[in-house]
Amino acid sequence: MVPVELAPVPPSLRTDLLIGGTWRPSGSGRTFEVLDPASGAPIAEVADASPEDGTAALAAAHDAWPAWRATPPRVRSEVLREVWERITARTEEFAALITAEGGKPLSEARAETAYGAEFVRWFSEQAVRITGTVRTAPGGANRQMVLHRPVGPALLITPWNFPLAMATRKAAPALAAGCPVVIKPAGYTPLTTLLFAEVVREVLAERDLPTGVINVVPTSEPAALTEPLLTDPRLRKLSFTGSTEVGRGLLRGAARQVLRTSMELGGNAPFLVFEDADLDDAVTGAMVAKMRNSGQTCVAANRFLVHASVAEAFAEKLAAAFDELVVGPGWHEGTTVGPLIRPSAVDSVDAVVADAVDRGARVVRGGTRPDLAGYFYTPTVLRGVPADARASTEEIFGPVAPIVTFADEDEALRLANATPFGLVAYAYTRDVGRAFRLAEQVEAGMLGLNRGLVSDPSAPFGGIKASGLGREGGEQGIEEYLDTTYVAI
Ligand code: NAD
Repeated sequence: MVPVELAPVPPSLRTDLLIGGTWRPSGSGRTFEVLDPASGAPIAEVADASPEDGTAALAAAHDAWPAWRATPPRVRSEVLREVWERITARTEEFAALITAEGGKPLSEARAETAYGAEFVRWFSEQAVRITGTVRTAPGGANRQMVLHRPVGPALLITPWNFPLAMATRKAAPALAAGCPVVIKPAGYTPLTTLLFAEVVREVLAERDLPTGVINVVPTSEPAALTEPLLTDPRLRKLSFTGSTEVGRGLLRGAARQVLRTSMELGGNAPFLVFEDADLDDAVTGAMVAKMRNSGQTCVAANRFLVHASVAEAFAEKLAAAFDELVVGPGWHEGTTVGPLIRPSAVDSVDAVVADAVDRGARVVRGGTRPDLAGYFYTPTVLRGVPADARASTEEIFGPVAPIVTFADEDEALRLANATPFGLVAYAYTRDVGRAFRLAEQVEAGMLGLNRGLVSDPSAPFGGIKASGLGREGGEQGIEEYLDTTYVAI
């Protein structure tokens, strides 16, 4: 492993608030620190938006709305296409920031840059495909025209685990649809979103288009900033990605003016391995589904449900794959597992492992905190985890793979669905009939069949049950930012 020095955050990076096309300090003059999770060291100071700054950002978005709505779809499309090109050209810069503030290995940060940029390209292509319908009413006496119009100013609240992709997955369809945005990035990772917003602002400014369509207000007090916006009639849409607990609170807040909402919330993904699976493929998929971002993804495989006849072989192969992982700062050449986001995340993962062990689980690998400066946890494999252990019932959000066995397909489905969450499930089987039964019966918004990765900007991402409302990506993603108007003619 070759250590690499932590690249400094470039001095050119804007760390103020972006409001109405202008970079400015927060009204209070306050700032907050952004930390490198691989060392705990501060890497930047960012303007700390006050509730008044949040309201100013919404006012700017609202002011920009008429002009943006009237901007031809082709022009909105070309803006987004140019933004995609510029992000792609600056991949190394984006990846460096993602690793610096979020901790993931550089290779994963580059992949996030490509994935995040792809939402912008995809929605640049959708901007010109917003359609409506006209038909003769069944009675024949009149016509029915259905139009889709931009919802209006949208508040986008994003999590820290994919600071570029979660921002682009919301901002790109909003802008494509003709909606201005106010982005409230996660406090741990505002830097990547600020760079993204600057790229969008530049492209708009060069074309003399309204720069107020993109506003960014990082804050250390998200509830205080958000609360007045939820009751402000200028806000027409809330799109949130984060924990189910915070999402529930925001839904309650949004109910007051019956805001359009999209909610991408937590998960508890089952990863099913049937007796007829190709076990080597299943382990390859498991590593992707479990270990991306050190297990800190909403689509992370949370419970490995394995047929009893292949559980030992699967556990051995998985443990062998875990042995190949290299834990360290994302900057180090060869690192495959970076730090967790904060010390509290390490404590929480450790407590989940201790709970499983207390209830009789066996630690096959890991279960320790490595002797490193930052916020690390050793990749862990657990066997014999009972269904009521926290590792089975809660979102782990760390590099821990609990293995549970099942006897037959019915039990596998029952265990898979025994959770209030329903974001994604994974299943490895070579039986086509079973694959279709799973597709119809697994309670999840997405299913990876013999694949450990489902996310794709061209496909509808989202959950059912307590995992959320609405879809991001695909043809559906832009619908979240469009209202339907029916005209009887
Ligand atoms: P979080 O809910 O703590 O925070 C998410 C965002 O909400 C952040 O920007 C945060 O500052 C803001 N926030 C926190 N409290 C708020 C409040 N009271 N009012 C307004 N905003 C508030 O979640 P997190 O820790 O950043 O992210 C991890 C969670 O996100 C996990 O549960 C994960 O499953 C989920 N997630 C879901 C998806 C998905 O697409 N379904 C994607 C990524 C992450």
